[in-house]
Parts: sequence; C-alpha cells; structure tokens
Amino acid sequence: MTAPDPALPPPERPAHLHVVRSRTDVDVPDAENAVAALLRALGRDPADPHLVDTPRRVADAYAELLTAPPFDLTTFPNDEGYNELVMATAIPVQSLCEHHLLPFTGVAHIGYLPGERILGLSKLARVLDLFARDLQVQERLTQQVADWLQDNLDPRGVGVVIEAEHLCMSLRGVRARGARTTTSALHGLVREDARSRQEFFALTGLRG
Ligand code: ZN
Repeated sequence: MTAPDPALPPPERPAHLHVVRSRTDVDVPDAENAVAALLRALGRDPADPHLVDTPRRVADAYAELLTAPPFDLTTFPNDEGYNELVMATAIPVQSLCEHHLLPFTGVAHIGYLPGERILGLSKLARVLDLFARDLQVQERLTQQVADWLQDNLDPRGVGVVIEAEHLCMSLRGVRARGARTTTSALHGLVREDARSRQEFFALTGLRG
C-alpha cells in the first residue's frame, strides 16, 4: 500500500446535475378568487357556510399539484462499468390533464443504459414528479422525462413508458372507466437496438 500521491487529483466527487426548483408559480389568492367566480357561474353561493372555505382549499390543492418540491440530483461515476439496463418499474404517477384540469393517474416504467454516469434509482421518480406536477398531456410528459434523462445523464439509451387512466375519459365523455392509455418515448440504443428495446419492453411487462 502506498500513500496517496499529492500530485494526483482528489477522488471524484458525485456530480450535482441540477438543483431543481419548483417550475410553476401559482398565484394562490388569484386562484381563490377564480374558484369563487366559478362557483357563482355554476349557480352556487360561495358565501354558503358549506362552501365558504372551498376556494381556498381548491387553490391550495392546485398549488400543491402544480409545484414540484426542489431536489438535488446527484450522479455518480459508473466505476463498475455496468452496461445493462437500469430499470425502475411501476412508479406511481399522477398529473393534471391540461384539457380538463382533471387528474390522470397510473404507473411509469423508466429505464436507461448507463454511460459514464449513473443515477440513484429514487431520482428517476423525482424526475418524473418534476414534469408530472404540471398541466400536461400524457404524450408530452413521457417525452419530457425521456428527453431530460437523455440530455442530463447522457446514457447510451433511455426508455420511458407511462400507463395511465384519465378521469376526463372515465368520468365524462365516453365514460371509458378503467381504460388505460399507454405512451412511450425511447432514445439511443433502447430505440435503435432490437435486443435492448425488447429487453426494455419485457421488463415493463409490455410487448415492444
Ligand atoms: Zn382531459
């Protein structure tokens, strides 16, 4: 065993990719006024004792649903040279449909083929949450998560699948209760290499 050579750089520290802050600024008092106006437009009296706190509750609920908590995204060098898929499956996802302001909920499967750096598994759920707390359509949400991982982690491939039920489809309109919408976004080898693609979809439980 030899003493550390002072001429060598210190061991590599984890790299902080981003400190992500909330992306949406909700004007809560303005939202409260708007909910009171909506109640009046729906033929209800916002001064009714049963409804008097509703504008505040609704405004708070939207503020929570549209604000992602800040988080530190730390990546680590892929020292072991791990070169198989890293997958997190059945991550719960909830978001708000931008067409009806109604929730859609389901699960996401996220995988990547590591390059130089790897990411803590729980961070995949954080990245998903960052984009899910927004007024969304499922296709864009799926793409944003895949693009973000591709751009920030520079992996050899990325796959994201979201399966969700939209309340705007199951409660109104066609009332297709239980119908699930599946969307996917693939990059790099997960898109181009048949074996990686197949393996990714096998791990999601879907056919590629
Ligand atoms: Zn909708």
